[in-house]
Amino acid sequence: MRALHPILIVGAGQAGATAAAALRTGGFDGRIVMVGREAPLPYERPPLSKAVLSDAAMDARIGIHPVGFHAEQAIELRLGVEVVAIDTAASVARLDDGSSLAFSRCLLATGGHARALPGLPPGTPGVHTIRTLADAQALRDAMGRHASMVVLGAGFLGLEVASTARGMGLAVTVLESAPRVLPRAVPPAFSDWLQRRVREACVDLHLDTRCASITPVPEGIALSLEDGTCIRTSLLVVAIGQAPEVALARASGLTLHPANGGICIDARCRTSAPNVYAAGDCTSQHQPHAGEEIRLESWQSANEQARVAAAAMLGIDAAPAATPWFWTDQFGCNVQMMGLPSGGLAYRWRGDPAAADPASKLLLLGTDDEGRLRHAIAVDAGGDLRQLRPLFEPDVTIDAARLCDPTLPLRQCVRDARAAATAPSPT
Ligand SMILES: Cc1cc2nc3c(=O)[nH]c(=O)nc-3n(C[C@H](O)[C@H](O)[C@H](O)COP(=O)(O)OP(=O)(O)OC[C@H]3O[C@@H](n4cnc5c(N)ncnc54)[C@H](O)[C@@H]3O)c2cc1C
Repeated sequence: MRALHPILIVGAGQAGATAAAALRTGGFDGRIVMVGREAPLPYERPPLSKAVLSDAAMDARIGIHPVGFHAEQAIELRLGVEVVAIDTAASVARLDDGSSLAFSRCLLATGGHARALPGLPPGTPGVHTIRTLADAQALRDAMGRHASMVVLGAGFLGLEVASTARGMGLAVTVLESAPRVLPRAVPPAFSDWLQRRVREACVDLHLDTRCASITPVPEGIALSLEDGTCIRTSLLVVAIGQAPEVALARASGLTLHPANGGICIDARCRTSAPNVYAAGDCTSQHQPHAGEEIRLESWQSANEQARVAAAAMLGIDAAPAATPWFWTDQFGCNVQMMGLPSGGLAYRWRGDPAAADPASKLLLLGTDDEGRLRHAIAVDAGGDLRQLRPLFEPDVTIDAARLCDPTLPLRQCVRDARAAATAPSPT
C-alpha cells in the first residue's frame, strides 16, 4: 500500500515505535517518518525507575527494537528534532530544525511529562523528576553521591524509586499527602499490605503528610511540613504524577478532554482532525472497563493503542484493545493488575496477606454489585492473573468466595465460571 506522502509519527517512544513496526507488519510499504525530540533510539521507560537507576549497563539494553531494526524496516528516524506545529487542514508539519513535512496521515504519540512543583522548576539543584533516560541517568549519578534521599509522592514511580534506592543502601524518606500509598490505583486493603512491605524495607514512610512550603536553601531543599516539622535534603525526587504532552495537539486545534487534558480519540484512535490519530499517554479514550473516558498511562495501553491506530491508518479493522493490564516491580515483589479500579467494588483475597512468608502468592479480586470481576491484583502471581483474563468478559459473573478459596484449584474455578456464563439460562 503506497501513499503520496509519508505517514508521520510524532514521538519516538513506546507508542510511536510500536505503531511504526505495526504499520510494516500490517503491509504498509510506503514511507514512514518518525520524529522524536529525544536523541536515543526508541527505548522502554519501565526500567528507568528500576534497573537503570542502579546499573548503568542497562542503558544499552532498553531499546524497544534491536539496533538496525529501523533501517531494515525503512522507518526514517529524525531524532533530536521536535515537531512544533501541525497544519491539520493542509496536512503539513513544521519541525524545529526549520524543515516542513507533508504527510498523508499523522500519529501523535507525544507521551507525557513529569509534573513539577510550583516554585521548583526543572533544573533546580538537588531536585529530580523521572520520565526520560536522561532523567534516570542524572538521578543515578546523584544517588551514587548521596547516602539519603526524599521522595515526594507514593505512587508507582515514587515507590519504585524508593525501592531501588533502598536496594542501593540509601536511607529513604517518602512523603505522601494521601492517607495511603497508591491511593488512586488500588483499594485500601492493598495499600495496607504494600505499606507493611515498604516499612519492612526500612523506608521512612509518612502518609497524610502535606508540605506547607518547599524551598531551595544553600545546602539543598527545605520541606516544611504542615505539622511544623522541617526536613532538609540535598536529593529530592518529585514523583507527583505525569501530565499528558499535548502542547502540539492544543496548538493544532485538536479536541482535548476538559477534565483529564488528554487528546480525545475514538475507539480507532482518531482525533478530532481528519487523518490525525493519537496513541499512548497523551490520549483520552472511552474505556469500556471504566465506563468513561479516561487517560491510561501504561506500557500495555501505549502498545495496544499503537496497534489499533496503525490498523486504522491502513483502513484495517483491528481487534479491540485487550483488558487493561499494568505491572510494577518494587520491594522484592512483582505486582500485576488487570481491569480497572472503581468506587464500590468489593475486594477479596485469595491467599493470606498477613502471611509471614514474603514469597507467598496473592490475588486480590474486586467485583461489582452484579458479581462481575472488574479489577484484579496479583503479587508474584502473574500466571494466575493471566488465567483470570476470560473472567473480565462482560457476560461473566463470578462466585468470588469460591474463586478465593485456596483449597480449590484456580484453573477449575475459572473454567466453571466460564461454563456458567455460556450455559443457557433456565427458563
Ligand atoms: C519511569 C517510568 C517507569 C514506568 N514503569 C512502568 C511499569 O512498570 N509498568 C507500566 O505498565 N508502565 C510503566 N510506565 C509507563 C509507560 O512507560 C508509558 O505509559 C509509556 O512509555 C507511554 O508511551 P508513549 O509512547 O505514550 O510515551 P513516551 O514513551 O513518553 O514517548 C513519547 C515521546 O514523544 C516525544 N515527543 C513529545 N512531543 C514531541 C514533539 N512535539 N515532537 C517530537 N517528539 C515529541 C517525547 O520526547 C517522547 O520521547 C513507566 C513510565 C515511566 C516514565
